Amino acid sequence: MIEIDFVEHTFTCPYCNRKQSYEVPAYNGHSEIRDYANRIVEEYAFSQLNLMYLICSNKSCEKVTIVGQFIHSKKQVDILPQYVCREYPDYIPKQIRDDYREATMVIDLSPKAAATLFRRCLQGMIHDFWGIKERNLNCEISALKDKVSPTLWKALDSLRKIGNIGAHMENDVNLIIDIDNSEATKLKKLIELLFEKWYIARHDEEELYNDIADTADEKSNQRKQ
Ligand SMILES: [Zn+2]
Repeated sequence: MIEIDFVEHTFTCPYCNRKQSYEVPAYNGHSEIRDYANRIVEEYAFSQLNLMYLICSNKSCEKVTIVGQFIHSKKQVDILPQYVCREYPDYIPKQIRDDYREATMVIDLSPKAAATLFRRCLQGMIHDFWGIKERNLNCEISALKDKVSPTLWKALDSLRKIGNIGAHMENDVNLIIDIDNSEATKLKKLIELLFEKWYIARHDEEELYNDIADTADEKSNQRKQ
């Protein structure tokens, strides 16, 4: 869900991730926007919706975000983009990026399904990034214990447990534990953080090292000439 604070009038641009303030009153009138929004939220009482039309103030982004809020219930509905999904470089394996994207797409519809998919993302990363493969995710996370910080380890184990609620709910059909949107969104943020901390940091680090090595080679070639 798009991060927006209707009281403080701030939002985080879903495209460039920059937090910023927006001006009121909300833009509501443009008929093309209302028509577009109407196609997305036709099951709701559309006239009850207040539309926010937001343009990112980041000069290198300037993309349009449209968020609706129901006048009485104050419930938020994302119009554009309908789900917030960041694009990641292809040195992160496709299967992991696909799971992340799918989880992000269903997060509002079914936070439980999203949690299961984020759990699978984590497992994919443990296999690929850490080269750990055990009989189940529980064992794999145990094997990771002395490799990451204690707080991160606890967060990973919690992601596993929350994801289990969706994955193994058939074990006891009478036990209904729900996962709400904000809880699933926390798991999404954790997966995004791991993309950054593990894959992107490693890639940037290697690139810098190679860059420095290349510079040294160049210098020594210049000296020889
Ligand atoms: Zn932006």
